[in-house]
Amino acid sequence: MPVIIGGVESFTTVDFPERLAAVLFCLGCPLRCPYCHNPELQDFKGKPFISWEQFAEFLDDRKKLLDGIVFSGGEPLAQPDLYESMKYVKDMGYQVGLHTSGVNLERLEQVLPLLSWVGFDVKTVFDAYEFRIPHSRRATVEACLDALIRSGVELECRTTLDPRVISKDELRTLARALAAKGVKTYALQEYRPHPSEKNPPDPLDVSAFFTDRDLLDELRGLFENFIVRRA
Ligand code: SF4
Repeated sequence: MPVIIGGVESFTTVDFPERLAAVLFCLGCPLRCPYCHNPELQDFKGKPFISWEQFAEFLDDRKKLLDGIVFSGGEPLAQPDLYESMKYVKDMGYQVGLHTSGVNLERLEQVLPLLSWVGFDVKTVFDAYEFRIPHSRRATVEACLDALIRSGVELECRTTLDPRVISKDELRTLARALAAKGVKTYALQEYRPHPSEKNPPDPLDVSAFFTDRDLLDELRGLFENFIVRRA
């Protein structure tokens, strides 16, 4: 059984850096981030967007136009047959990318040899993970991150700055911990409220991350590549 497809973005220049790519959104995610930007992709029993056969036709059509396919979600590592699906894509000549929050070490290690690039969501300081992100497991997240760093695969760690999940002081602590582990590329992403959110944080508390020059300068000094993405 291939992965269950919750959506497809047929062209992107930003989701798989330095490649022209398409995004395959896997259906289902075990986590419940308060700021989830894709809540419609959380339910594993949701309605698939298209079948794998239809996606295979898309891959066939775009062979000369795209460099890669990035598996996103939902959470790709929650798909039991992720390896087979990624192998299919790679065997067609595409580079394979992965967006993940690190929910399954065994599956990550299985697909690692197929990957050209990984975008790894680090939600908050490791100590607070299980309190702030329902159903997360700190040990698994850290083990996945360590495996990625050890592997040498092109890696971007990224954190969405939602004040309900991380404070400015915690962001400092997290950035230092990532740099100490050997992370070279770190991106901050602005929280954007989803239309279904009932109690979004105060926009001033969100923008406070980006107006604190001392904080941004300190973080910039920790990484070879430091990226700030505002909505
Ligand atoms: S990991 Fe991503 S898809 Fe899953 S709940 Fe968090 S933001 Fe939503």
